[in-house]
Amino acid sequence: MRLLRVDKLADAEFIDKRLATAISHQSISSEANKRPDVVKMEKFLEVELGSKFGAEVQPYCTGKQKKKQPTDPDLDLPPILVAWYPPRNSASNDKKPLLIYGHYDVQPELTGPNGERLYGRGSTDDKGPVLGWLNALEAHKSAGVEISVNLIFCFEGMEESSSEGFTAFLENMAMISLKTWTEVEQLTGKEKALYKKICFKLKDFTDAIGDTKVPLYQDPIDIMMHRWRYPSLSIHGINGADASDDPGTAIPNKVTGAFSIRTVPNMDSKTVNDTVTNIGVFPEHVPFWRANYEEPNFAAAAKATNELYKTDPDYSREGLQSLLDKKSLLLLPMGAADDGPHGPNEKIDRRNDIEGTKLFGAYWHFFAGRILRRYRRTPFSRRNYCPTQQPAREWGIDEVQLKLSW
Ligand SMILES: [Zn+2]
Repeated sequence: MRLLRVDKLADAEFIDKRLATAISHQSISSEANKRPDVVKMEKFLEVELGSKFGAEVQPYCTGKQKKKQPTDPDLDLPPILVAWYPPRNSASNDKKPLLIYGHYDVQPELTGPNGERLYGRGSTDDKGPVLGWLNALEAHKSAGVEISVNLIFCFEGMEESSSEGFTAFLENMAMISLKTWTEVEQLTGKEKALYKKICFKLKDFTDAIGDTKVPLYQDPIDIMMHRWRYPSLSIHGINGADASDDPGTAIPNKVTGAFSIRTVPNMDSKTVNDTVTNIGVFPEHVPFWRANYEEPNFAAAAKATNELYKTDPDYSREGLQSLLDKKSLLLLPMGAADDGPHGPNEKIDRRNDIEGTKLFGAYWHFFAGRILRRYRRTPFSRRNYCPTQQPAREWGIDEVQLKLSW
């Protein structure tokens, strides 16, 4: 009997060594003087994946960062790390490929105390989840359990700075096609039914933001939908206005502000840009993307969630820039809703970090269609999992439980 020793490896290997080291690299992509730390973080992942696990690693350099002001320093964009596990020359044709995306840069911030909550910038966005995949890989290797998919990792270091360079990189990799759209997608009853199942109360929201007067909507479903599926505008900063408490009424001759607009299906980025440009700014933009949650990839993640957390997953919508159109894209989170990415005291709960590692590992096997017996009567049959090929060997759930006793 071979066990995946996630719990055994958790504290010493996954948290004290891997997560703590990653968080010690202040890989803040938006600050020029931290660029060497961003590159150090990339190197750390390269060594972990390449030297430690034997993956084929390839950092791609994507050129210089664009200068916003002529006086800005001359900066190389941090490398985009692509890693294949197993290396391409030893990958089995019987296994499905699975691309895992993550980012290793962070927003500026500080760290805090440890315990059941692991504080530190990047703990949940996105170093913790990125390392969760590495942990799952290590757990398989240390137990001698075969991974049932061909993994391709793609980790970028500019996600927190508009993913500069990533679009061009993907275009060069010939992975994308762009579309244009016109208006916000209609809400269907089926979609609304998914929100109704989510356990979310108005108090959760006001507790999280620390204010009971802020919510524009009282119905939790409205709050979720306006956070997730409708466009929104966020103001990030205002310059030139009087920031003092004085009751002055002087009108400044110039006030500037920074804001972003969340674009959602089916908004046309060009129309939004043209409209915004009319009020005097030159925005960057990334197009929206939308995943199809009724496909085997999502079913695999749902089954892995059920296996680990003994409950159905919540189907939420999130924002992420992506240009991998026509691919099955799944955001499989490991953190909790109160982790506070980008905020002060960003954290990840130890439970999420470790159970999330197990979730990732289980997802690989469900994705590969190797864990089937229990789910045979579900709409997602074996044929859906492996449309073009038979798995080399089908695992029954009993055997899997032996093999994957966490
Ligand atoms: Zn972020």
